[in-house]
Amino acid sequence: MHSFCAVEFAHLHRIIHFLTLNYETKMQTLSSSKIDESSISMKKTLGVSSDTTLPVMEAFYTLQGEGVFAGHAAYFIRLGGCDVGCFWCDVKESWDKEAHPQLSISQIVKEASSFPARLAIITGGEPLMHNLNELTEELKKEGFRIHIETSGAHPLSGTLDWITLSPKRFKKPLKDIYQKSHELKMVIYALSDLEWAQTEAKKVSDSCVLLIQPEWSKSEKNLPILIEFVKENPRWKLSLQTHKFMNIP
Ligand code: SF4
Repeated sequence: MHSFCAVEFAHLHRIIHFLTLNYETKMQTLSSSKIDESSISMKKTLGVSSDTTLPVMEAFYTLQGEGVFAGHAAYFIRLGGCDVGCFWCDVKESWDKEAHPQLSISQIVKEASSFPARLAIITGGEPLMHNLNELTEELKKEGFRIHIETSGAHPLSGTLDWITLSPKRFKKPLKDIYQKSHELKMVIYALSDLEWAQTEAKKVSDSCVLLIQPEWSKSEKNLPILIEFVKENPRWKLSLQTHKFMNIP
């Protein structure tokens, strides 16, 4: 018989939580349009955008599993939409932004604020396909430190405390982001990616943390080689997807 493991339970919990969030947003939108449609159009005219929405694939409270901040409690906001097209992507369902509900920024921030940690991690998909100015501004008002995980293939926006740049061969980063990034995370699928990782590392600042991370499906095969790589190239650190070992989202 199929056993209901912790990951499945966590996943189910996220789905229920997310459906509730989406339902509340729809009801809120419905009721505000009934109450005062003129005030909404006035807000748009004045550029006040508290009703701005973003496609949210999922949002959940967990521990950051990867990189320098691994182990920190954080609220993840996974935005829908990605045009990078990594064939090994483990969140392909994020690619189509139309497939995800539009949530208002105020609803996203309200939900994030209901948890004790004040670390928000914006991820995707490719989150920089969206303008993040308003979302980050509103998160800041609630005292959040804000991180982003991006391929760097779209222009930066928003107020960000930490930029994790994870370049992909399929759509390369824009030039500007390299010097602004705080950690460079190179996902290693094939061993030829190590050479490319070193080329990418030349473009970031001296203070940028260099991380190599085995792509999950190749982890067992490539891990021993990556360990040797770090021993030979000590500026690099090994990053593992520890959330997958912990069976948490
Ligand atoms: S950039 Fe990220 S979300 Fe987009 S295809 Fe690649 S791994 Fe998937």
